[in-house]
Amino acid sequence: MDLFGKSLIELQELIKTKKVSSKEVFDYFAKRSKKYNPKLNAFHTLLDKPVTESSATGGSLYGIPFSMKDTYNTKGVQTTASSRVIDDYIPPYNATVYERLVKAGAVLLGKSNCDAWGHGSSTENSDFGVTKNPWNNDYVAGGSSGGSAAALSAYLSPFEIGEDTGGSIRLPAAFCGVVGLKVTYGLVSRYGCIAYASSLDTVGPMTTSVHDMAAILEIIAGNDPYDATSTFTKSFSYLNTLDRKVSGLKIGVPKEYFGEGIDPEVERKTKEALGIFEKLGATVKEISLPHTKYAIAAYYLLVTSETSSNLARYDGIRFGNDRNFFAAEAKRRLMLGGYTLSAGYYDQYYKKAQKVRTIFREDFDDAFKDVDLIIAPVSPTPAFKIGEKINNPLQMYLSDIHTVPVNLTGIPSLSVPIGLSKEGLPIGMQIMGNHFQEDKILNVGYQFEQETNFFDVIKKGREKYKD
Ligand code: GLN
Repeated sequence: MDLFGKSLIELQELIKTKKVSSKEVFDYFAKRSKKYNPKLNAFHTLLDKPVTESSATGGSLYGIPFSMKDTYNTKGVQTTASSRVIDDYIPPYNATVYERLVKAGAVLLGKSNCDAWGHGSSTENSDFGVTKNPWNNDYVAGGSSGGSAAALSAYLSPFEIGEDTGGSIRLPAAFCGVVGLKVTYGLVSRYGCIAYASSLDTVGPMTTSVHDMAAILEIIAGNDPYDATSTFTKSFSYLNTLDRKVSGLKIGVPKEYFGEGIDPEVERKTKEALGIFEKLGATVKEISLPHTKYAIAAYYLLVTSETSSNLARYDGIRFGNDRNFFAAEAKRRLMLGGYTLSAGYYDQYYKKAQKVRTIFREDFDDAFKDVDLIIAPVSPTPAFKIGEKINNPLQMYLSDIHTVPVNLTGIPSLSVPIGLSKEGLPIGMQIMGNHFQEDKILNVGYQFEQETNFFDVIKKGREKYKD
């Protein structure tokens, strides 16, 4: 049985009807991953056999393999956050998201490469080498969940769990031509996820279709007593609402996202995608998110402050290696954050950035009074070349200009592929909804997927990894 390119439902069906066994499916992905990993460096850890006994034969993910960004605690399986500081860490407990997936029958295949501690936009900050973009190996896969996006794009795993603090799910999803969801802050438990910036970190799936996305979200969303910020919102069937029509929907397009630095092809493809929504009966109107230009400054002040506090626990005394093992980017952020939180500067920087955060919230609240959804490019450009920005941190930070406002506000955003650039690199668009409107953005993403068959982009990316 050729399993190449099968969607989650197809795999589920094949296992359920006993056309393939869960072992065959696991071995299939394990073999492919082992074969292509030396080329792509998508995984840090690959397992030869399942580490959990899949007792959940009735579970909706029974026998489906998956990989997770290496920032999640997986009991008995090495977890490094792609940093040498904890390169020998074997967690004694499981992250809630992992626990829920295992309970539904899913089987861990590996741990995916990322920028160390989630710091980065290209996975070049991993202490274990850069992940290559499957579409063109001279280009970055995006970051920080770059390994996850690359693995999906080459069909080395059928779904992934990424993490998004400022764009780390959406940016690599856009660069590699797959689907990524940044959830509303609080919808999915962060328990057991190695913290980067706790007031912004979110746990989300990465998949090759919107349908698969809805299926995974149903399993991982919902309250967890171990995470005090997790929601009490009732669990929701995201699959049941995918078929709603989009006619009559009001879509806002922020003019600030099409300013200086936007690649003309990204602009053109986004406008074409908006045209498709108009064809489906939605109305598209220009809106303004007037404070967008302050997003990068506010975001990098807040995240460096929070990460300097979170990384303080790796003191080289209680566990992990010496602090000298922190690489350049982590050191840079520790120093910046130590500075912005210090007496005398706290009010001037950290507190001010928190106030600016409220202003972003107001920008989006105002916009959502007028429109149902907001659509914009994920990134001003397609993937850039490996090495192009790594020596210029500010340039690298600017890659996140379109993704960080979403995290500062806490709203959800879905990244979907909308086509290819002239160089043949994927371009992504993000569909943003108000808090806890994942059903709405998945529905709209799904309708777009049906209408455009963007799945073709995904399929094309996999072609050279077929055998
Ligand atoms: N590139 C952003 C940063 O370095 C986003 C990282 C993330 O979402 N984990 O902070």
